[in-house]
Amino acid sequence: MVTRGLTLSMPWLALVNIGFALMVLLRNGLFDGIDALYQVNAFSARMIDWLMLAVIVLFSLSLLLVWQKKRGLSLLLLLAGLIWACCAVWFIAHLKLPFAWPLCTTLLLTALAGLYFFPVGLMSYALPLWAAMPVASLVLNQGISLRFVVVWLIFTVVLIYGRFILVRWFDEAWLRHQQNQALIARLDALAHKDPLTDTANRRAMETVLENAVKQGNDFALIMLDVDEFKRYNDRYGHQAGDECLAAVAQALKQVVRSPDDVVSRYGGEEFLLILFDATEKVAEQVAARIQERLRAAAIPHAASTVSDSVTVSMGIAWMTVGQTASEVIAQADAALYRAKNAGRNRWSC
Ligand code: GH3
Ligand code: MG
Ligand code: MG
Repeated sequence: MVTRGLTLSMPWLALVNIGFALMVLLRNGLFDGIDALYQVNAFSARMIDWLMLAVIVLFSLSLLLVWQKKRGLSLLLLLAGLIWACCAVWFIAHLKLPFAWPLCTTLLLTALAGLYFFPVGLMSYALPLWAAMPVASLVLNQGISLRFVVVWLIFTVVLIYGRFILVRWFDEAWLRHQQNQALIARLDALAHKDPLTDTANRRAMETVLENAVKQGNDFALIMLDVDEFKRYNDRYGHQAGDECLAAVAQALKQVVRSPDDVVSRYGGEEFLLILFDATEKVAEQVAARIQERLRAAAIPHAASTVSDSVTVSMGIAWMTVGQTASEVIAQADAALYRAKNAGRNRWSC
């Protein structure tokens, strides 16, 4: 979260700092020269030039660090803060430049807005500058000025209270973000799940298949249909029919490799299993396991002409290069039809 915040706010913070550094640099170097205006010796003026150049370099490096997600940002911020602090004392106490006070407060406020969620970085940058203000006042007034102390304390409260408010907003936004993510995940699950059997719905299954075909993944399909299910409904009622479908789905989920393979409800009492990287032999083994599992579950079906418990018929097909998803489904469907015609409770390839 801090990384994301820095990615968003560092460009702005760098812009402000580089902007101010350029302003000082241009005023100092190009417009008459600060040395002539304020009777500063040439060495001090050049020193300020170099310090401003250092601020520009430090913030350019900070941007690089943030973009490349590297460590060490706090150190760069500390160096920049120290440079601004030295310059602030120099500007205020020696050059008596009127723009130095608003420069300090603006830099501190922008640091607060840009780094409030990153306490170490904020402290590294802001503390030197914040401490430089009373030092500059002390030197300027040659002693403690009560008026300055009051204003400085108020400004400090503004900074601390401001950070408190910003952090509260940040926490609230983060909480809302997390709630939204949870909601999206729940809606996403609902949109892709069949509520009765808790398996993937047809839309989700089609998406998985299309992606598998696009990526050239190998898979086998088992198209599965509950035998004589109309009779089951007629005999036991629709509600019992629903429970039976849920029990069959549960059995299917138990025989596949989770979460690699996909069990989906294709429609009514038909299911489609997607078995990734499954050979012919493996797919037939899965079909045999399904029969075994249903035999063990022994869901009574007194109206069936095939068995006295619920059985299924299955059609198995494989993905071959160049085929579309619907062509493979059609092949599995045709195989299922053959299994039905051959007497149900069996599979066909
Ligand atoms: P076959 O062995 O040839 O598959 O015969 P069948 O009776 O299983 O097939 P048929 O297509 O004739 O009937 C399927 C029945 O499945 C009809 C329908 O009422 C029932 N059905 C479909 N969806 C649901 C469901 O969600 N709940 C219940 N309880 N029944 C369903
Ligand atoms: Mg059917
Ligand atoms: Mg059926």
